[in-house]
Amino acid sequence: MAETNINPVIIWLRRDLRLADNPALHVAAQSGKPLILIYIDEANKGRELGGAAEVWLHHSLSALTASIEEKGGQLILRRGKAADILDDIIDETGADEVHWNRRYEGWARDIDEAIKTDLKSRGLKVESHKANLLTEPWEVETKTGGFYKVFTPFWRAAKASFTVATDLPAPETLDCAEAKLASDDLADWTLLPRSPDWGSKMMQAHTPGEAAAMSRLKSFLDGPVEDYAVQRDRPDDETGTSKLSPHLAFGEISPRQIWNAAKDNDYTSDKFLTEIGWREFSYTLLFYNPDLASQNYKPAFDNFPWDSDAKKVEAWRRGQTGYPFVDAGMRELWQTGWQHNRVRMVCASFLIKHLLTDWRVGEAWYWDTLLEADPASNAASWQWVAGSGADASPYFRIFNPFTQGEKFDPNGDYVRKYVPELAKLPKKYIHQPWTAPGLTLLEAGIKLGETYPHPVVDHKTARERALAGYKASRE
Ligand SMILES: Cc1cc2nc3c(=O)[nH]c(=O)nc-3n(C[C@H](O)[C@H](O)[C@H](O)COP(=O)(O)OP(=O)(O)OC[C@H]3O[C@@H](n4cnc5c(N)ncnc54)[C@H](O)[C@@H]3O)c2cc1C
Repeated sequence: MAETNINPVIIWLRRDLRLADNPALHVAAQSGKPLILIYIDEANKGRELGGAAEVWLHHSLSALTASIEEKGGQLILRRGKAADILDDIIDETGADEVHWNRRYEGWARDIDEAIKTDLKSRGLKVESHKANLLTEPWEVETKTGGFYKVFTPFWRAAKASFTVATDLPAPETLDCAEAKLASDDLADWTLLPRSPDWGSKMMQAHTPGEAAAMSRLKSFLDGPVEDYAVQRDRPDDETGTSKLSPHLAFGEISPRQIWNAAKDNDYTSDKFLTEIGWREFSYTLLFYNPDLASQNYKPAFDNFPWDSDAKKVEAWRRGQTGYPFVDAGMRELWQTGWQHNRVRMVCASFLIKHLLTDWRVGEAWYWDTLLEADPASNAASWQWVAGSGADASPYFRIFNPFTQGEKFDPNGDYVRKYVPELAKLPKKYIHQPWTAPGLTLLEAGIKLGETYPHPVVDHKTARERALAGYKASRE
């Protein structure tokens, strides 16, 4: 770059692993300066990524590296404290401008703010951009200047306040520094599990990367989105929802790209756009409550008499509760790194209410096992189910783990897929195997307590215990 005599510009990529509709990259590319694209594995991040998310990150970075190289550029990978790494790059290259897209976790905002202040004080130009939300948390305020605690008025106000601009195109070429900068080898970051290699199995169901994200959006908008309002509740329908969540979580696609494409589509169900709104709402909650993943939003829940049993929690994690719909869900999560939304609600409710376990135990498990583990949506959703969150489902709403299955997996296909030991059971009994006559169980090759567990708790007793706990916590 010395040859060009123009100081380069740094684009610090984080959870925005895409080239199209990437405002930080777009503005930097328009400057006409040589570009330095960097991804930092931050040493001082507030929360380590879970195992499944690390697998996604590996593949996402690998896909991004290939797309950047195709356009003539280089993605630099470095590990360490972000401030130190940026300093090194500035020293090595003479870069005098830095761009990034905003993030919303408390720890990340602190880091970004400190870096911005420091670099600006040293005369560098530093700009942060809106890229990963349709509306910044501070852009939608109540009449009294606070943030919305209830989704419906939030979303009404948000929609009234934003105009969604057209997506930004990916730069035609990436005019990067002429001399290659030192970069880590992605493999050395050991994001992929080795023994056993459970990550490859997970990836059979997913393709990380920007191109795959766009093709998933297109195939969803080409048909399934029309029936979304109904089919979104059917885990037995593989195409009922978009499965865009991991792509969104890593910023391989922007909410604006989804919004614009969905709006231009005659068949789009409004319900789908509303779910994008729930993601926005979760980020507002996180922004104003940085401890959302670790503190009850409603302090009244601090006194809740949790009374969980480690063995039963382990049975929940492994999909061995004896409730087939819950077990199918927990095994789907374990095997594929994704889980259907309806099933998430039922599994989370089961852990919290049937097993009287603190929601934070579940939040941590999903954080580790979900490819898309998201700091805002995961925490907000767990608190929603627990009843401790803003605009939460009331605690006394306790999902019945077998009638939910009967309603949303009426033929038992979802259960058969993930709990194969029950596959031969007629649909009448598939969600309640303990009610099947002995002969039916025998014919299906099932020995309750041996080939498939008895329920770890009795539904009615567990329900009453949960309600009593709730009552006690409010006295
Ligand atoms: C216990 C629990 C934990 C969850 N953890 C996460 C998580 O870590 N990351 C995550 O992205 N979502 C999480 N969700 C929300 C929701 O389940 C997923 O976003 C959705 O199932 C992803 O599948 P999809 O992409 O096919 O969604 P679609 O139904 O196709 O929806 C499109 C997009 O809208 C957003 N969305 C949909 N529903 C919600 C919701 N309830 N809250 C916030 N955003 C939503 C997601 O970005 C999703 O990709 C959780 C829900 C529960 C009940």
